[in-house]
Amino acid sequence: MRRIAILGATGSIGRSTLDLVEAAPERFEVTALTAASNVDQLAADARRTNARLAVIADDNRLDALRTALAGTDIEAAAGEQALAEAAVSGDLVVAAIVGTAGLAPVMAAVRAGRTIGLANKEALVSAGALMLDEARRSGATMLPIDSEHNAIFQCLAGQDSEQVSRLILTASGGPFRTFSLDQMARVSPAEAVAHPNWSMGAKISVDSATMMNKGLELIEAHHLFGLPETRIDILVHPQSVIHSLVEYADGSLLAQLGSPDMRVPIGHVLAWPKRMKTGARRLDLLEVARLDFEAPDPVRFPALRLARAALRDGEAAPLTLNAANEVAVEAFLAGAIHFSDIARLVEDALIRMSQPLPRTIPDVLALDAEVRERTRLRLPELAA
Ligand code: NAD
Ligand code: MG
Repeated sequence: MRRIAILGATGSIGRSTLDLVEAAPERFEVTALTAASNVDQLAADARRTNARLAVIADDNRLDALRTALAGTDIEAAAGEQALAEAAVSGDLVVAAIVGTAGLAPVMAAVRAGRTIGLANKEALVSAGALMLDEARRSGATMLPIDSEHNAIFQCLAGQDSEQVSRLILTASGGPFRTFSLDQMARVSPAEAVAHPNWSMGAKISVDSATMMNKGLELIEAHHLFGLPETRIDILVHPQSVIHSLVEYADGSLLAQLGSPDMRVPIGHVLAWPKRMKTGARRLDLLEVARLDFEAPDPVRFPALRLARAALRDGEAAPLTLNAANEVAVEAFLAGAIHFSDIARLVEDALIRMSQPLPRTIPDVLALDAEVRERTRLRLPELAA
């Protein structure tokens, strides 16, 4: 029996995780589920899985959660401290909150030496050095859920990174892969969230459309696998069949393939070091028939260049990139700015802010809040 906590249980990754956990009740016991504000969904999931603890991030909804859980012995809680409690309640925590909102609970799990199934890439991008230092100290294990990093993790199969010459992250190219700069300037939030291959939350879907997602993943890969920016390549592969590759010193190239279904990498993490059934469609290579590859276009997708620069600059540059991007994506989704303004705001934040990475999580969060505030101040001049 694995005792598992799911942070962000009501989201896209959270739901896929619940699918797998509920299909194998003999393997998993749910210790805690968390959500931002959707009380009804959270309470229904907690009842069905017989979770010990249900946490709603929004304090104002605690009474509603208590009411929804009346007659059960599931504990209801709210707020930051409760999110951290949820994070350490199991042996394995699936970190599937979106954005730096997930950083403090992930760090609580890292500090407690838990096994972390990491989907919440923004937390690692913002405070990677801190998180890894803490993981080394506590003995926490980080298992990547992000499909590219999970693919690389599988291709590494325990070999040390000294044998590796480079990592190749594949990218679908998103919904605007073939759009001109002019066309991209006019795209709507609805078009940006309609990803051709994957069904995901709104924020990561927009990140895929700008390719900032691949930029964040570049930084994520650097932290998880310890390779410098110069040895991590990005390859556009529109079919999303090869999820990423590792090139070894001898010229061998190992890839992991599968249908684009997050239940595969999530299941890999849930069952690791074993395997489990996931219900994902088997990949039929005859049906796929061909695989295409192209170089990413740095002109139409400036986010890639910005992420590389942030990783090279180090310190708080990745945090700045991420925080400005979170604000910009939110504003774009709200119809307040144009698509092309997202990268503009991020670049602007990187130029204006250059600081060392703070050494504590409260200081990291304070800097994150400062970058957000500064980025928000710029929104009116860009108003769509
Ligand atoms: P989502 O928007 O569908 O779900 C986000 C979850 O986080 C929800 O449960 C929500 O209630 C919770 N949440 C949001 N804001 C919160 C806050 N302030 N405090 C507490 N909880 C909060 O997002 P998603 O697509 O499931 O993505 C989650 C994470 O996984 C992201 O970091 C994303 O980059 C990463 N990821 C997602 C996919 C995917 O296929 N969806 C793939 C790879 C990586
Ligand atoms: Mg990914």
